[in-house]
Amino acid sequence: MNSKKSKKTIPVVYLQGAACTGCATSTLCSSYPSIKNILLQDIIPGFKLEFIFHPTIMAASGNLAMDILEKTASEKGYVLIIDGAVPTKENGIFCVIGEKNGKKYTMLEEVLKLAPNASMVIALGTCASFGGIAAALPNPTGSLSVGDIFLSNKIKTPLINIPGCPPHPDWLFGTLEAVLTKGLEKVQLDDLKRPKAYFGKLVHENCPNRAYFDEGKFAKRLGDEGCLYELGCKGPITYSDCPTRRWNNKINWAIGSGSPCSGCTQPEYPDYLGDFYEKIIDVEVPANEKKIVTKNKK
Ligand code: SF4
Ligand code: SF4
Repeated sequence: MNSKKSKKTIPVVYLQGAACTGCATSTLCSSYPSIKNILLQDIIPGFKLEFIFHPTIMAASGNLAMDILEKTASEKGYVLIIDGAVPTKENGIFCVIGEKNGKKYTMLEEVLKLAPNASMVIALGTCASFGGIAAALPNPTGSLSVGDIFLSNKIKTPLINIPGCPPHPDWLFGTLEAVLTKGLEKVQLDDLKRPKAYFGKLVHENCPNRAYFDEGKFAKRLGDEGCLYELGCKGPITYSDCPTRRWNNKINWAIGSGSPCSGCTQPEYPDYLGDFYEKIIDVEVPANEKKIVTKNKK
């Protein structure tokens, strides 16, 4: 008797637009599951993820690579992961993602071609989710988030934003697992389309420095004991589970290594959060059903 259950293969297309490859590097450095597990094994019961296009790791280029995108766009049922913002000025010419028979293909045209037929789209990283650094002022390339591209082109494909500069690998693979095993409608998203499982709480709520904040004991210089609020920590207005999930195989995270949170998972990042080491003011922090007005804390 064959005890093997049949598995559904899910084609995954990973497009990289206006970005730094940080999101790809971060997610490819996943610890559990490892990238070997992800690419070669079945990490989700009943499903096999098949990365058919991933610019950072695929061997194909030119005609061979672009043929895959062309063929995929005419099919249905694939997951589209978009990493990076989408430049729109001059018909998107500032971001060419491939070439076929001498013709250049822009990120903009590939997103418009592939997104409508995808079963779902994941905007991976803050540039794809909210514009991020790629769309920072003065934004000479007219870069937009995936959500804004969807809005202006009336694309209705389900969209999940997984921000982060870069995003944690668990946020991507955990979300894929939840969508495939439970169904898209069961994955709770916040108002910014971020999965609540990872972005449901403020960094500040679970920060190990929180007792210092409540006591009003603030570090004056990097390396001092105390809360990093005065040194520009954006944890009170930033939603992510970094304090409990931690990074690099759970070894550490920004605040754990003495650096303020820069608010990288927020749509205001980087233009509207102030400088990395600039203190936030006038912020109301919801925590344990109390409101804390941080500007009054000394
Ligand atoms: S301000 Fe930053 S360092 Fe201080 S408790 Fe909040 S998150 Fe932690
Ligand atoms: S601690 Fe803050 S800046 Fe660092 S990854 Fe988490 S949300 Fe981003």
